[in-house]
Amino acid sequence: MRPPGSGGAPASAALPLLDSVPHCQRRGALHLPARRSERGPCYDSDRLLALITRRIGILGGTFDPVHCGHLDVAARAQEALGLSRMYIITSNIPPHRQQPFASAYHRFAMVSFAVASRESWRAADLELRSAAPSYTSGTLSKFHERGYAASELFFVIGADAFAEIATWYDYPAILDAAHFAVVSRPGFPVEELPQRLPRLMSRMVRPPLDPLSQIEPMISLIDAPTADVSSTAIRARVAAGESIAGLVPPGVQQHIEQHGLYMSMTPGRRASDHAPASAAGRLHGQS
Ligand code: ATP
Ligand code: MG
Repeated sequence: MRPPGSGGAPASAALPLLDSVPHCQRRGALHLPARRSERGPCYDSDRLLALITRRIGILGGTFDPVHCGHLDVAARAQEALGLSRMYIITSNIPPHRQQPFASAYHRFAMVSFAVASRESWRAADLELRSAAPSYTSGTLSKFHERGYAASELFFVIGADAFAEIATWYDYPAILDAAHFAVVSRPGFPVEELPQRLPRLMSRMVRPPLDPLSQIEPMISLIDAPTADVSSTAIRARVAAGESIAGLVPPGVQQHIEQHGLYMSMTPGRRASDHAPASAAGRLHGQS
């Protein structure tokens, strides 16, 4: 993993996406002594902090391309946990995976189209600012560097991906860097996770989270419907000349068609390499 903040732009410049953090809300800057109210119980400063801080959702992925299942998983987590902001973070070079088919530029552009109608959502480019592999651990560290406590961050993830969490870089420490909001995916119910990951069972909870008691990062299991679609299936449909209407947002569909993305199944091949056949397209020895 690259050291936090190294390479490319400095960490502060790499996170224009984050809201400014009011000084009074930063951990360590909230000088609220424990006290006993005449009307209620005694709250210490950490508990009051948890009541007033924001809840930030983070959905990472290759988004090759982003599709309605991605939007569903983020929306279900936002509803279940009352998330005030949702960052959709496009991965650069995902570890343990083959290279994406579309360039990072195209993938980020499609995410931008996908979030355009959702006021509290943002397309985040922080993993694209470095040529190094994208690790969630490093991404969460960047949020911490900007003053966010682990208790304010909710890393949103599908149940299929979370089932592999033990293979992730920086496991198990990464589970202390943010809450994990695990949403069911068709064929991957969250009910199976306690058995699949027995060591983590004690940290698994069901929403709603009690803000007074959930300061320590937990694993929220969210059983909710999401579209039965995958990027792999969409790429295959495009390559086969089949429609992807209704599987991706309209702006994403238009972008894919306009730029000829996924017409070839060769990873990393540029869209311009396989533009619609034309006399010009056959000039340089292409058949
Ligand atoms: P690919 O087929 O290329 O693996 P994908 O559709 O699985 O693509 P990813 O970019 O791998 O999408 O997934 C990003 C995140 O979104 C993961 O946490 C994954 O579990 C989640 N996710 C993707 N599709 C769905 C879906 N239909 N329902 C719930 N979660 C999903
Ligand atoms: Mg996947």
